[in-house]
Amino acid sequence: MATACKSDKADSIEMRQLRVLHGTVAELPIEELTGVGAQRGKVLREAGIETIADLLLRLPRRYLDRSRVVAIKAAPVGEEVTLLVRVVKPGQAPRFRRGGRQPPRETIVEDESGTLRCVWFRGGHYHKFEIGDQLAVSGHLEDYRNQRQISHPEYEFITTAEDEPESPLDLLHTGGIIPLYASSVELQERGLRSRGFRRLVRAALARVEASVTASVDQIRAAEHSLPPIFTALQHVHFPPSKEQAESGRRRLALEELYQLQREIARRRRQRRAQPASPIVASERHVPALLASLEFELTVAQKTAIAEISADLERVEPMRRLLHGDVGSGKTLVALCAALQAMEAGLQVAVMAPTEILADQHFYTWQRLLAPLGFGPVLLKGGRRAAVRRELLTGLQSGGLPLVVGTHALLQEDVVFSRLGLVVVDEQHRFGVAQREQLTQKSAHAHTLVMTATPIPRSLALSLYGDLEVSVLDELPPGRLPVRTALRTPDRRERIFAFVAEQVAAGRQTYVVYPTIEESEESELLSAETAYDELSKGALSGLRVELIHGRLSTEEKRSTMARFAAGETDVLIATTVIEVGVDVANATVMVIEHAERFGLAQLHQLRGRVGRGTEAGYCILVAYPLEGEGQLWRQRLEALCATNDGFELARTDLDLRGPGQLLGTRQAGLPELRIAHLLRDEDLLETARAAAWQDEGE
Ligand code: ADP
Ligand code: MG
Repeated sequence: MATACKSDKADSIEMRQLRVLHGTVAELPIEELTGVGAQRGKVLREAGIETIADLLLRLPRRYLDRSRVVAIKAAPVGEEVTLLVRVVKPGQAPRFRRGGRQPPRETIVEDESGTLRCVWFRGGHYHKFEIGDQLAVSGHLEDYRNQRQISHPEYEFITTAEDEPESPLDLLHTGGIIPLYASSVELQERGLRSRGFRRLVRAALARVEASVTASVDQIRAAEHSLPPIFTALQHVHFPPSKEQAESGRRRLALEELYQLQREIARRRRQRRAQPASPIVASERHVPALLASLEFELTVAQKTAIAEISADLERVEPMRRLLHGDVGSGKTLVALCAALQAMEAGLQVAVMAPTEILADQHFYTWQRLLAPLGFGPVLLKGGRRAAVRRELLTGLQSGGLPLVVGTHALLQEDVVFSRLGLVVVDEQHRFGVAQREQLTQKSAHAHTLVMTATPIPRSLALSLYGDLEVSVLDELPPGRLPVRTALRTPDRRERIFAFVAEQVAAGRQTYVVYPTIEESEESELLSAETAYDELSKGALSGLRVELIHGRLSTEEKRSTMARFAAGETDVLIATTVIEVGVDVANATVMVIEHAERFGLAQLHQLRGRVGRGTEAGYCILVAYPLEGEGQLWRQRLEALCATNDGFELARTDLDLRGPGQLLGTRQAGLPELRIAHLLRDEDLLETARAAAWQDEGE
């Protein structure tokens, strides 16, 4: 991992769940339900089910329409299929062998028409099955030596060997559509059989009946053709049709989004209660800075600068998110805000998530501010004690107006005399608690947070609802889109020949690897290994350097400085260079093991090239493992198809399903478990209107 400074512990305080269902019965402890004794209660609680409501909110992960299920023999090879099967040979439980290769694990299943081999290679999640377990398995059907097989199938337990056969009553209730619960696998291992789970859900529904109450008025729900809350619960668990299951889920999603918006509205009110120092608009320094630039601001930059300036003039503390794709020019916008504060005699703190990025901000800000008579100081880990003490004294006395740093800024002995503005760059790399900690160093500071994580605007507005949002939806003119290509490892020779050509033309290249060094357990090509290989082989004669998170602060700084100065041709790196690094002469980004990276991360990495006026190239080299599924390919192909971060964000949300990672977690809000940010986008406005009305905003 790169030096992200996420504090999971601090975050988890905020990760409590939203209370979606209300009502005296629903809120009863789970043990109150008939059929749940002390022992079963313990199992359920360990799986996070503490109340009757918690049980009802464990929604099926998906549904299986019995009428669409095919027989093994009739299933088309080469396609995605779902099969209802019975385990005949469970196979060996996996044994962990250090260093050595794992043999594939297999389980043989059958239906009336024939048998199927389910196989798991290294790293796949494998459950211990029993003969007689009934499963729904799905995946890509292959033909392996005349035997039908699915590698790494998705599977769910329908019933297990120990259950009695399904009673006609159960089937009646599911109406041919079988709800499949993700949680049943996990609970299964703890002794709660899947069918028992369904029975509990039925008992819970009968128990709560009319006593569950909705927070969002049914009139609003009906505008989206959604049923009342209790009907929704019934339809979700025992669906008469797939459509009704989905509108049931959406009705619950509406409640969940409502609770989220309530939370946001509450926070906003709290924040407004504490006034900030109003900062008058800059008359000297901002105009002087802008006049000194050799380029024109984009319209989006001008708008953002004006919005921020107006915020700063108010007594209400600013909490603004500056949201702009990589390379959209956020730094300059932040500089203007900082100048406004400094001109008014206030101090400014700028926090970046990595040392490399902090260094870079320090140099950029120094260069642009020196002509105006301001200079930043740099505070990060590993500075000499005497230097650090001097810095702290300067900040405390107010003699130093501007500090750039890493999370070292958060330490308790960093005290300001009149901190007026806090800027947090690449805020998604920080935990929420850390972000707030810096602002709390002054009772009156305004905050500007910046991110390149692309989230569709409507979602940003809702998720970051207690922040104002400025968007840089425009890149500086003259930027050419980065040309992106997906390649297999057998093309590496040609790829590095191309790198050498670019170097001969005076350009520079990054080559990125997922790990620093070779390890026993992994077969990944690492940065160190590749450095040895390439600097002696394909790139010999070029000036090649290596950078990663394990180098000392000083080594990292000097390596980056040499690259920025053009003294290095090729920088072999880990993701320490992922965010913010800005070297305009670098035109090629080679990402090895691209299949290992997430879409947002790849987009960030690609953003390191094509920052000047020369065309940029991003070459993705993928080393997929057998049986790993196709999601990685979809991600990489999406990246090749567009340079638009917002479009990629939508794809990412789509591929990841609920996509919580990108959304609420980052905003420091409880996770959404029912609502799907894309599919339920239309419900956000309704939820927001209802919540803000109830909160009296
Ligand atoms: P990011 O939004 O990714 O943080 P930066 O602020 O690092 O982007 O800006 C990327 C590059 O674009 C920098 O080299 C910066 O000097 C340059 N730049 C910023 N604004 C403009 C503009 N309006 N026209 C041309 N170049 C610009
Ligand atoms: Mg930046």
